Amino acid sequence: MSKRILVTGGAGFLGSHLCDRLIEDGHDVLCVDNFFTGSKDNIRHLLGNPRFELMRHDVTFPLYVEVDEIFNLACPASPIHYQHDPVQTTKTSVHGAINMLGLAKRLNAKIFQASTSEVYGDPEVHPQPEEYWGRVNPIGIRSCYDEGKRCAETLFFDYHRQHGLKIKVARIFNTYGPRMHPNDGRVVSNFIVQALRGQDITIYGDGSQTRSFCYVDDLIRGFLALMNTDASVTGPINLGNPNEFTIRQLAEMVIELIGSKSKVIYMPLPGDDPKQRQPNIEKARTVLDWVPSIQLEQGLIKTIEYFQKIVK
Ligand code: NAD
Ligand code: UDP
Ligand code: UDP
Repeated sequence: MSKRILVTGGAGFLGSHLCDRLIEDGHDVLCVDNFFTGSKDNIRHLLGNPRFELMRHDVTFPLYVEVDEIFNLACPASPIHYQHDPVQTTKTSVHGAINMLGLAKRLNAKIFQASTSEVYGDPEVHPQPEEYWGRVNPIGIRSCYDEGKRCAETLFFDYHRQHGLKIKVARIFNTYGPRMHPNDGRVVSNFIVQALRGQDITIYGDGSQTRSFCYVDDLIRGFLALMNTDASVTGPINLGNPNEFTIRQLAEMVIELIGSKSKVIYMPLPGDDPKQRQPNIEKARTVLDWVPSIQLEQGLIKTIEYFQKIVK
């Protein structure tokens, strides 16, 4: 059945891929974005589509629209961007969640929250299951994002318990792919752009820290699988690819795939940078019947093709 679906942060990296999928599936999409990190370029191909509507709006302000379902993705996701105006980052997560939950409550609409593996902080449990409460510094430079997202989860579960809202909370682990912002400082886009330009590849720290990288198409499939579960499934559910790599391995792979002459340089590790991260996706596997299918090399090739077109 065709629905009218609100996607906040819909002009961003993940949001624009989600809009694409929802339109393909025959839904009407209302994309709400303040264009802080998102771009019209990400959704330009949808602008003429009668089933797509774009609205410039900041989710920290109330929003009165009529929709059947809500995906709440609005929030800068890369450390450079979320640390640019940390107070606004917390407001976006917290006031944004309150407004979108208020909207969902008035409409009795199902609502999805794009939470994050950052709720686990610098974890001492590895890989991270949903039951792990995390190890987050409440006053560090990453806290505006981590604590904002943690508080948003609290709000989602309190609206669920207190008002009976239908909620779906996904904890997203590092995801990459076409339409990542070339200057947002995340590791995959940084390394690819540097390698394409023949610039030095900047490894922070000694490069022994790990991340597990999920390709965007797999992740969006996970979003829809979670959204379409029955009301008893609230999450939180980890979504990510458990294949774990050191940052040094990632650098080597990018250099080799591009055939780049770039050399690796080592720079200071930013504060509170998690040492290791890998999702335990047992819950997604059993509850959603979801596993990622695109492995790092294959996903990097697709992502490199995208950046080759846009990077000068
Ligand atoms: P992104 O920066 O590309 O997208 C975020 C979008 O939200 C942008 O279009 C931005 O303009 C918009 N936005 C920011 N503040 C807003 C506000 N106050 N009002 C309206 N719009 C606003 O990042 P992304 O990678 O697409 O991330 C999307 C969501 O997924 C975020 O909530 C992020 O925290 C979450 N997430 C992403 C990853 C990842 O690896 N990509 C991992 C964990 C969680
Ligand atoms: N809200 C909104 N759109 C709506 C309904 C509510 O943006 O359609 C916002 C409104 O600003 C409110 C917030 O959501 O402050 C929380 O709403 P809720 O009904 O939970 O709380 P209350 O209105 O009682 O503060
Ligand atoms: N990183 C790096 N060089 C870069 C950008 C990031 O070595 O140019 C490191 C960063 O310190 C972190 C990892 O790569 O250890 C992932 O960083 P990203 O910002 O992509 O995601 P997050 O730290 O939020 O998981």
